Amino acid sequence: MMADQAALNFASGTILGIDLDNTILSYDQAILAVALRMKLVDAQAPRDKRRLRDLIRSGPEGDVAWQRVQAEIYGPAIGHAVLIDGVIRFLTRCRQHGVTVHIVSHKTKRANYDTTGTDLRFAALGWLENNGIFSLDGPGLPRANVWFADTRAEKVDRIVDLGCSWFIDDLLEVFEEPSFPSSIGRILFDPTAAASVMPGMLRMADWPSIERWAFGG
Ligand SMILES: [Mg+2]
Repeated sequence: MMADQAALNFASGTILGIDLDNTILSYDQAILAVALRMKLVDAQAPRDKRRLRDLIRSGPEGDVAWQRVQAEIYGPAIGHAVLIDGVIRFLTRCRQHGVTVHIVSHKTKRANYDTTGTDLRFAALGWLENNGIFSLDGPGLPRANVWFADTRAEKVDRIVDLGCSWFIDDLLEVFEEPSFPSSIGRILFDPTAAASVMPGMLRMADWPSIERWAFGG
């Protein structure tokens, strides 16, 4: 589907749901920083997230090493995560256009391999705060519009309960949940064009493209 520059797809009153991890914030640099610190890889490690993950998993500890890295990046090391380009501008335009935004994240309270007792949801809220998402000078997203779910099915239930007419996610599996209603528009955030697209789904490579599609040029 081609984005129409002139169209305004998000009218005032639209309720939009957005995923958090790898849609609003990127962990790419965080994975490398943590893996280097844990001495799971050396400085020659690939920068690409998938290749880096595969390299970590291929080590002697296997998937456990990867889970230990994840426990760090979603918790104590979340400060290494960065905003994906264009998010603040897009969210700010949502507010200006009267679009209500909810962030809905599948995130358990604790990581399996965490040894620090970090609350991953609390860490994520802190990250959102530190990166200006709640700032009234910018997106001004109410804290109460951030939701966490223990499972993917629970996440979909929340998206439905909130009355979202659109949802943006980097993970195809969310849209493939059997309970995901066909009446909710699906936007796959897919910077590397890696996933296959379901019928009726929009694929967007970056936030400026979503912004143009949503609000016109
Ligand atoms: Mg995600």
